[in-house]
Amino acid sequence: AKSAGGNRFEFADREADERAITRHGLTNALPAALERGEFFIEYQPLVHLGDGSVHGAEALVRWSHPQHGVLGPDRFIPLAEHTGLIVPLGRWVLEESVAQARVWQERHADGGPLRINVNLSPTQLHHPGLVADTVEVLERAGLSPGALCLEVTESALIGADEGLLKPLRQLADMGVDIALDDFGTGYSNLANLRRLPVSVLKLDRSFTQSMQRAPADPVDLKIVEGIVSLAHSLELAVTVEGVETGAQADQLRELGCDTAQGWYYARPGAPDRIHSLVLTDAI
Ligand code: C2E
Ligand code: CA
Ligand code: CA
Ligand code: CA
Repeated sequence: AKSAGGNRFEFADREADERAITRHGLTNALPAALERGEFFIEYQPLVHLGDGSVHGAEALVRWSHPQHGVLGPDRFIPLAEHTGLIVPLGRWVLEESVAQARVWQERHADGGPLRINVNLSPTQLHHPGLVADTVEVLERAGLSPGALCLEVTESALIGADEGLLKPLRQLADMGVDIALDDFGTGYSNLANLRRLPVSVLKLDRSFTQSMQRAPADPVDLKIVEGIVSLAHSLELAVTVEGVETGAQADQLRELGCDTAQGWYYARPGAPDRIHSLVLTDAI
């Protein structure tokens, strides 16, 4: 037993070492990867719960690593965040996805109300160039600010002072939507919401998951109902993420949520997918 324990520890150590080495390697490889164009974006549709029509899409970045294959953002965003590379990487994501949104709009006869959601990490929020960069990207692509939604996590805004909120307020004044991402995972201070320049609440997947059980936990239902009614009374739209089943979608629709995102509708995918979903109304 003793030696088995020893082996286990050795094994765990080795695993930890390997993870650290990989982390180190990935961190060092990030700048060149950005230059070489190894990042790409998948788009996941957001749909209106009412009629299933496409509302827009969230841009989700991936890294096509020459040795490790396709890496999800959880593998490298924290590293990019740590080294500050998130600023140029995030700018690239914004540029790329705003240009893509413009292409979708042009390909629709009516110009389409299709919107694009882009994630902002805390370091990007603190970066002084945020507002100017965003304005420039929108102007260059010819996309109206109202078609862009920037997603900021609730935790990034907890305790945020006016200095941090000012750029978001400026963007919101221009017509850019600000969404509070992963809402309900932090220490949500609902009263705090009034102070934040947000127009969308994005309910975390954990709420959606609790709708999976049949019957759903009545307390969870009450909580979601309460959040939705508070959000609506503050004129915030409510999006839910992680919808995997039709039953969840039905439940969330009944609870008054506005838009939804999840595998039930579509997995993140190539930009053409969004276009064909809009054209065929396949969802
Ligand atoms: P997030 O913003 O909460 O994005 C939603 C995540 O849930 C995505 O994971 C998406 O693929 C996944 N998802 C969507 N529908 C379902 C579903 O029905 N079931 C389940 N189980 N999962 C679903 P992904 O793409 O791995 O992204 C992870 C996180 O990485 C994102 O979480 C976001 O915080 C971050 N991220 C992604 N792209 C960017 C980016 O360009 N910049 C920054 N700063 N962060 C990003
Ligand atoms: Ca997000
Ligand atoms: Ca989220
Ligand atoms: Ca989430």
